[in-house]
Amino acid sequence: RMPTLGDVARYHAEARPDAVALSFEGRDTTFADFDRKTSRVANALIAAGLKTGDRVAYVGKNCDLYFELLFGAAKAGVVTAPIGWRLAPPEVAYIVGDSDAKLVFVGPELVDQIESVAAELAWRPEVVVMEPVAGDAHRTFEAWRDAQADADPRVAIKVSDIAIQLYTSGTTGRPKGAMLTHDNLLSMRKLAAEYPLAWNQWGPEDVSLVAMPVSHIGGTGWGLVGLLNGAKGVVAREFDPFKVLDYIEHDRISKMFMVPAALQIVVRQPRAREVDYSRLSHILYGAAPIPLDLLRECMEVFGCGFVQQYGMTETTGTVVYLPPEDHDPAGNARMRSAGLPMPGVELKVMDEAGNSLPPNAVGEVAVRSGANMAGYWKLEDATAKTIDADGWLRTGDAGYLDEDGYLFIHDRVKDMIISGGENIYPAEVESAVYGHPHVAEVAVIGVPDDKWGEAVKAVVALKPGAPRDPDSIIAFARTRIAAFKAPKSIDFIDALPRNPSGKILRRELRAPYWEGRS
Ligand code: ATP
Ligand code: MG
Repeated sequence: RMPTLGDVARYHAEARPDAVALSFEGRDTTFADFDRKTSRVANALIAAGLKTGDRVAYVGKNCDLYFELLFGAAKAGVVTAPIGWRLAPPEVAYIVGDSDAKLVFVGPELVDQIESVAAELAWRPEVVVMEPVAGDAHRTFEAWRDAQADADPRVAIKVSDIAIQLYTSGTTGRPKGAMLTHDNLLSMRKLAAEYPLAWNQWGPEDVSLVAMPVSHIGGTGWGLVGLLNGAKGVVAREFDPFKVLDYIEHDRISKMFMVPAALQIVVRQPRAREVDYSRLSHILYGAAPIPLDLLRECMEVFGCGFVQQYGMTETTGTVVYLPPEDHDPAGNARMRSAGLPMPGVELKVMDEAGNSLPPNAVGEVAVRSGANMAGYWKLEDATAKTIDADGWLRTGDAGYLDEDGYLFIHDRVKDMIISGGENIYPAEVESAVYGHPHVAEVAVIGVPDDKWGEAVKAVVALKPGAPRDPDSIIAFARTRIAAFKAPKSIDFIDALPRNPSGKILRRELRAPYWEGRS
């Protein structure tokens, strides 16, 4: 029988009981404690009447107790749905409502909001607060948990049972609840053990930093990778560029995952060049395209191994990786690649009819592996459109494979700009514009154009004090990419709209130009 999340918690509790599993703001939880506490959580959920397949929601910043909830629920057969705390109350209400959560666990910072969220629901979920809040009457997580015995309830769990309902980032539309099974969550670890990749080896000395929000696969998935491998995870309540540097220095972080938008803020801290990075072995980055100049800057400053990760919520995170060896600062062509399929992952690039395309032909990327989600919660049509009868999952991303099997991601199929009959991918144009010395952030969109159908527009946030000089930016882009791809116009903006996982919301930038049109 394949293991479940609960089995892994039990395994580490026996193998390394005194090793620290989680560290959060000075509170350390050993693997033995983690196993006992997650059993209490399971017992508390069972006592509250929850059954296999029922859902609970978590709305809060990162904390160690979230991972207790996730594993404890998994031991009881209950599904956890973590929800982004940065979302606006109606967005939170939408996801809590969609999840059918029987219980809602909320972070102390969101207690004020949760009543207005609950008021919009058709039912009244019980609310448990993760930390005590002065003057608040809700039950606290620890009191709720510790009213129970720590005997493992030993609920019979199948590896095909859903363990987590992780909502997609909502970059292209409303977030969708991707249902991930125990098998999905564990298959990658099993394959990583069978086909050891040097950067993916975990030893007792490894410490990982969990700094991305747990509502995203980059937070929850990354936290799980450490826990499942028996490593210590240092959980950061929220992403703070100064604290990331502190954690690296004081907590001896050896591995961390970060989205490009976060890395950019960390690397630009004045102190970033003074920190001792000798313990940091690898930075894993991904979830959005990274501008090449930013990647080079990070390689220079951090001096550790870099590994790109490409994947999505629906594939339980990483399915493609670019190994450290392919990170050549001189900038070989491979630096622009998302990399190779992880062991056990099949990749193909296909045309609209689903036929495989030869190397170097651009089409939609499809993935097949044991980590493909079971489906979208309550969205049967969307599930059927995403996963075909043979188990291929359409990513919605455009790209191509080279002769050596390296994947090059162009962009979302939906974001492709067709200008004068040419296909233009915003990420490539953004990467070109980003190198301009005045540019802090850039997003590229297609806007309606009578002559070209669509015209390329760059929306730029300037560095503090930089002049507004669209011509210089356009001329710079033309030195780096073909003229037809270079922006025809520039808009200036204070900061780009991003979702909580740091992705640029191009649909928001596009909307005003396309109002009343297709
Ligand atoms: P939604 O599906 O709700 O629109 P989303 O696709 O942004 O949101 P996620 O599952 O968090 O939600 O993100 C997956 C997407 O992120 C991929 O389909 C791809 O477009 C992008 N992505 C992930 N990794 C990389 C990478 N290494 N390089 C470029 N893009 C990436
Ligand atoms: Mg998506």
